[in-house]
Amino acid sequence: MITIKNNNEIAKMRESNRIVGLLLHKLDDIIKPGISTYDIDRFADELIRNEAGKAAFKGYSIPGLPPFPAAICSSANSCIVHGIPSKKQILQEGDIIGIDVGVYKDGFYGDAAKTFQVGEISEQAITLMTVTREALKRGIFQARDGARVGDISHAIGSYVMSQEYFVADNLTGHGIGRSLHEDPVVPNVGLKGKGPRLKKGMTIAIEPMVNIGTNRVIEKGWEFFVADGSLSAHFEHTILITENEAELLTEY
Ligand code: MG
Repeated sequence: MITIKNNNEIAKMRESNRIVGLLLHKLDDIIKPGISTYDIDRFADELIRNEAGKAAFKGYSIPGLPPFPAAICSSANSCIVHGIPSKKQILQEGDIIGIDVGVYKDGFYGDAAKTFQVGEISEQAITLMTVTREALKRGIFQARDGARVGDISHAIGSYVMSQEYFVADNLTGHGIGRSLHEDPVVPNVGLKGKGPRLKKGMTIAIEPMVNIGTNRVIEKGWEFFVADGSLSAHFEHTILITENEAELLTEY
């Protein structure tokens, strides 16, 4: 069921999503060569608690897997999404790392992701990140009252293909609110004019996941990797649908 949020609910969505945006902003100064993904997770968990929120991914369950053990997903290089932070994973100069974070506060969820560069990175990695960020921007631009979910999907997918990159298979954005994942599903490929109609007051997370070499993915437990080992980037915002351009609830 797609939910429409009233003003009171929107205020709460703004707050949980503000914490997400704040964290992703602060991580700009934290992510550098030599830090472990475990330490990034600790930083995140503490910031969220200091803001009176709860790390929404920690303990998140899906059938067949142990509950997700951390506050963030940390997905480096060819890991697309859902990477598990580890003391053993030390970031190196030249890595790229997607950090995805969910916050629960006062009944509502926030969710966003950003890919960071670790020190100096390759031209290829810079271009991938630029294309993925631009794909998100184009998707968000379509998201307004009266449009269809397919308008977002088409904007993202067609742009990524035009740049000769690949949208990761079967990984999508989603509605968000009292649950971390609500209807509608927001695919990163699709047809203009198709899918559920967007209405003012809906809150959705748009999240292109873009790979250099192939759309195919390999799942290893929680973690999703690009099948050919090439790089992948991920940017996500939770937005509020309005009559005009959407409001970015997780601006970072
Ligand atoms: Mg999400």
